[in-house]
Amino acid sequence: MTNEEVHSAVRAYFVQKQAKEPGEYDGAVDAISKAVDLLASIKDTFRSTVNDATGKEIEFYINPQCEPALKWIASAGVSTKTGNIVISISVALLYLLHHQLRGVQKVPQRRYSPTALLAMGAVAAIAHEMSHAVYHITLPTSVGKDESDDQFRALECDADRRGGFGMLAVLRSPAHFRIFRQATNICTKRAFFEAAFLGQILLCAVLAAAYSQNPRYHGPNVRWQLFSAGLMSAISRLYFAGQVRAFWAFWNAQRISRRIPLTDRKLLPAVLEIDLADQEIFDTVTAPIMGYLVETKAAEAALSRQSA
Ligand SMILES: [Zn+2]
Repeated sequence: MTNEEVHSAVRAYFVQKQAKEPGEYDGAVDAISKAVDLLASIKDTFRSTVNDATGKEIEFYINPQCEPALKWIASAGVSTKTGNIVISISVALLYLLHHQLRGVQKVPQRRYSPTALLAMGAVAAIAHEMSHAVYHITLPTSVGKDESDDQFRALECDADRRGGFGMLAVLRSPAHFRIFRQATNICTKRAFFEAAFLGQILLCAVLAAAYSQNPRYHGPNVRWQLFSAGLMSAISRLYFAGQVRAFWAFWNAQRISRRIPLTDRKLLPAVLEIDLADQEIFDTVTAPIMGYLVETKAAEAALSRQSA
């Protein structure tokens, strides 16, 4: 998909949305267009990295389909026609992120725009899908095909963790960071880290509403723990004095998020507060499966790409 096609997908979504629920969507179109500019830039880097490493092509789609016909709000797979890796993010997901921020004029105590949360939520989502593409997919339509619910959930957790780690790519690339800075008014590492944790909180809140009570996914608090653990370890590994910075950004993101009036107020506590029953399942079932499945799956994925 070219950058022009990406933007026409955004327009196509809002034509359908306007027909279904007439309203004023100019603010949403503007913020979502900035987020897809960032995604389009990231996918170009990802495409060349994966292509260099594996010889595999990546197809990237912004899906314009409108609710309720929409089946997947984001996905990763291998095309049965071309053999290419296909990653898709729907405009509907970006709209859900934006919708939660509808009443938020500014980020409390901060100079950056709420668009930073939307953009980083979108980056967390695409980084999750890219993680599936690189580490989990072995065959066309292989994601979830051979896995039990517990195994599938373990791979989802791994994609959250690796996705959180991968979000740092926006800061590490001058081209991505320029787009992000123009859209959000963020120009320091410290503010970037904080906005990245806030974006994860927003995404997990939205996913909580979309995937509640699904045995293939953990609840929003466990998912945020994984996304944030991934980002924490990336910051600590790649920046001098990173651990202290990561901790402060993580702590501040929680504090600030409690002062952000999301449209659906009950979603935020679901992300920030521990769900003991879900945590127990993660500790006793999911995490032990991750212990062996993650490495096995990543090795299989690498092997299948080499032989493709
Ligand atoms: Zn997934």
